[in-house]
Amino acid sequence: MDEIRIENLEVYGAHGVLAGETRNGQMFMINAVLKTKLRPAGLADDLSLSTHYGHVCQFMNRYLREHTFLLIEAAAEHLAGEVLLRFPLVHSIVLELKKPHAPIGLPFSSVSVKIERGWEKAYLGIGSNMGDKQNFLDTAVRKLKKNPRIKDVRCSGFISTAPYGGVEQDDFLNGAIELQTLLPPYELLEFLHQLEGEAGRERNVRWGPRTLDLDILFYGDLVSGDSVLTLPHPDMANREFVLKPLDELCPWQYNPVNGKTVRQMLRELEEKPYIDTPVKSSY
Ligand code: AMP
Repeated sequence: MDEIRIENLEVYGAHGVLAGETRNGQMFMINAVLKTKLRPAGLADDLSLSTHYGHVCQFMNRYLREHTFLLIEAAAEHLAGEVLLRFPLVHSIVLELKKPHAPIGLPFSSVSVKIERGWEKAYLGIGSNMGDKQNFLDTAVRKLKKNPRIKDVRCSGFISTAPYGGVEQDDFLNGAIELQTLLPPYELLEFLHQLEGEAGRERNVRWGPRTLDLDILFYGDLVSGDSVLTLPHPDMANREFVLKPLDELCPWQYNPVNGKTVRQMLRELEEKPYIDTPVKSSY
């Protein structure tokens, strides 16, 4: 992706663990690489189609003056997040915060932290088979949209499907959601668990009835074998109720684990003879 680069911007702030640092303040330097698309502004020669680097510099200066952090890790983390929220054309930022006058007591030129943060596209599965199912799904979508660290939420149509996993229960209403998020995968999962909790979800029976079920199907092209968060979702190829709504949003999305697109997985599943119990899953 194209970049706007800001080098050695000098700002003043009162960040540090020592009392003298928060009392007196000191100079900090910022290197920032803003990853963004520059072609529209380049072709039209129009600043409104790009991110004004002057505004970004002024904003970073103001933010670090108006807030106080003990750690440059915290200052960088919060600043990167705020820049991404404030400047919507910036897809990600590499931010280095340098502290050339850190109280080290030895000769050195600078100490710094460098982080990369950005928006990531994720796909979720959503389902309910208790109470006012439509309302549980609509409420969850509304809450996703309200989270400032989530944007561009797109929802598939909801489909009614028979329960999966052999437990006697009501039919499900299922859908899929596309979104962009600043939340890293585990924080996104935590937020989804929070929404499930707010919907009164109880985790008693595996594959049992639930007011709200939210799964992460894809998080960018991330592959993770962790049992707390397995990505892409390991059982998607066996679940028509996941693949059908997903196919509406992203038929060409590629699953790097099985080497198939969503459309391919759906077609193959539709051609398979009906099997009542799932093949194998860790949950
Ligand atoms: P569920 O019953 O669908 O809410 O999922 C039960 C557990 O699966 C959760 O506590 C998660 O930690 C774990 N899990 C593993 N991978 C995923 C994933 N991709 N999306 C959601 N939950 C997951």
